[in-house]
Amino acid sequence: MNPQQVLIGIGSNLDDPKKQVSRAIAVLNTIQETRLLLRSSLYSSSPRGPQDQNNFVNAATLIETYLNPAQLLNSLQTIESDFGRLKKRRWGERIIDLDIVFFGQQEVSLSNPNLTIPHAEALLRDFVMIPCLEICPEWRLPNGKPLRDYTSGCETHNLHQLG
Ligand code: AMP
Repeated sequence: MNPQQVLIGIGSNLDDPKKQVSRAIAVLNTIQETRLLLRSSLYSSSPRGPQDQNNFVNAATLIETYLNPAQLLNSLQTIESDFGRLKKRRWGERIIDLDIVFFGQQEVSLSNPNLTIPHAEALLRDFVMIPCLEICPEWRLPNGKPLRDYTSGCETHNLHQLG
């Protein structure tokens, strides 16, 4: 079986978010049958939903994995819980958020586990799209269209690259 190239979106707005995102990127490289290929810069974005929370730090990574989508989701959820993630409120603060944005050219729609790829809202979020495009400017969606064609339809969250 060939490995798949997968884009992962990462976000944090609690407990030194820059450190949490950098640590999560390092941990992604320890997932079995998986290796880290590329990582984006760190970005800052304003929160969606409740505004009484800190700005987020975001990044994207390109990984290569032999896991299937459900196995990879399971590994990401294990990392989230190892970081001490607690679900407080919808679109609320979180120590780490790891999303499978794209899994090669595959389309996935599972109910158990709950998994939709391409990630349902990724194409609407500048803090997902811009870091992904930084590392994979030629990425194409399962429908064959270039990812870069979707940026104009994104919601904006005051995204800026951190130095
Ligand atoms: P969130 O609060 O954004 O971390 O959402 C977590 C939920 O989204 C979990 O129940 C996941 O099973 C589900 N989910 C659906 N599609 C995806 C995806 N592409 N990547 C990560 N989580 C996903």
